[in-house]
This record gives sequence, structure tokens and C-alpha cells, in this order.
Amino acid sequence: MKRKYKTDSIKELLIDVAEFRDARNWKQFHNPKDLAISISLEAAELLEVFQWTGADTEADTEKKLAKIKEELADVLIYALLLGDNLDLDISEIIADKLDKNNQKYPAEKAYGKADKYTAYIEKTDEEKQE
Ligand SMILES: [Mg+2]
Repeated sequence: MKRKYKTDSIKELLIDVAEFRDARNWKQFHNPKDLAISISLEAAELLEVFQWTGADTEADTEKKLAKIKEELADVLIYALLLGDNLDLDISEIIADKLDKNNQKYPAEKAYGKADKYTAYIEKTDEEKQE
């Protein structure tokens, strides 16, 4: 059976998501606040996969992976809807953010390190003496 929804393009994904939304007349309920809340709630559902699992940090069971897929899809769907609601170009805002992150985390300094970006900022001679 051919799947109804299957694409790799962000713009095509948004078309599918908007088609789903519009077939139910749900756009009327979507505003930036409620979409942002929905992203956060779905991200919290994603965290539930790991709640009370102690030192277990992996997605190492079929059950966990299935739940992760569902909740990650929910987060991404709401993210696409928020982008649509605010008329944002998702590819452009990701590219812009990657540019900023490249400035904050130069690969030659951050390679293999998990430090906060402030660890990579050059201090002035004055700041070094403080
Ligand atoms: Mg969910």
C-alpha cells in the first residue's frame, strides 16, 4: 500500500500538514501561543520515554523507539504549523540559526567538546586579569 504522506522536503511536509489541518478546519484554533505550548507539551511527552529509567539513556527497545517516533513527529508537526502561522521560511530560519551557531561554536575550538559557547570567546587582557 502506498503511504499517503511521504516526502523529504520541508515545503512538501508543510503542504501535507496544512492539508491535514485544513481538512478539519483547525486553523481557526492555531495561534502562536497555543502552537508554542503544543510544541513544548509534545516535547514533554518525548521526555516521558526516559522518565524513571535511571541510568538508561538509550532508545534501545522497539517500544521506546515507537514512542519516540510518535512524539518527535508531533513536535515537528507543531513546529511546521507555527512556522506556517508566522509565515516563516523554515529552511531560512534553520540556515540563519546554523550561521549563528557557527559563530558561537567555531569547529576548530568546539570539536569534541560540550562546553557552553562562552568557553570559546576570546578574553581581553583586562578580562584575563580579573
Ligand atoms: Mg504526542
